[in-house]
Amino acid sequence: MALRRKLVVGNWKMNGSLAQLAELTPIAEAAREAGGVDVAICPPFTLIAAAGTRSGGVITGAQDCHAEPSGAFTGSVSAPMIKEAGGRLAIVGHSERRAFQHESDEEVRAKAAAALGHGLIAIVCVGESDEQRRAGRHLEAVDAMLLGSLPDEWEEGELVVAYEPIWAIGTGKVATPADITEMHEAIRAALVGRHGDKGDRIRILYGGSVKADNVAEIFACPEVDGALVGGASLTADGFIPIIEAAARG
Ligand code: PEP
Repeated sequence: MALRRKLVVGNWKMNGSLAQLAELTPIAEAAREAGGVDVAICPPFTLIAAAGTRSGGVITGAQDCHAEPSGAFTGSVSAPMIKEAGGRLAIVGHSERRAFQHESDEEVRAKAAAALGHGLIAIVCVGESDEQRRAGRHLEAVDAMLLGSLPDEWEEGELVVAYEPIWAIGTGKVATPADITEMHEAIRAALVGRHGDKGDRIRILYGGSVKADNVAEIFACPEVDGALVGGASLTADGFIPIIEAAARG
């Protein structure tokens, strides 16, 4: 059996509606048929509970969570609230939140610890800007984010890293297999260097304009344990080929 089972996660961002949850029925069917792959969908908070009733074996999750369990944090949603709504996973530190909500590595780390502490899988996103890559500082930038954003403790299988180069998110630009391999190998080396065998069991997802027509070459890269998918996860037609590619290995 592979050391790490593939994981494919759809991030609906601020998209979706009750009507759109109909997409989950064929997605769940495809995930069941493909077998051997973990599949998750993260709709907006308001749809998590309803998504859970339509999702079959598909994991539902959130796109963020607050670091505190409750309190005077208007507009925020906590890890226990996500759990109560049926969510089993939380994405934290997505580059859009780092950019628009000015989230720091320290906040991302606290959010990841809160998610894990309440029994959710935490997907911690890291990725360099176009400027950092052009300056040849992409490896050190991502390593610093990992160091600052990953929590100290987690149960096996519950911490996931998503490498998402900012310049490839929602832009249609995809990192080359060489770029992806270089970064995923560097992330793996950092995780193993800091956490030993436990670091070898953390799944590393690639994200950034993943689609049916590029997913096979992305999954062929070493140390790619799945994908975090934005646009292509909004419809069954877009998402199912990615699930099927993950099942092929
Ligand atoms: C994302 O939202 O994490 C993402 C990778 O988006 P897209 O697939 O649309 O680039």
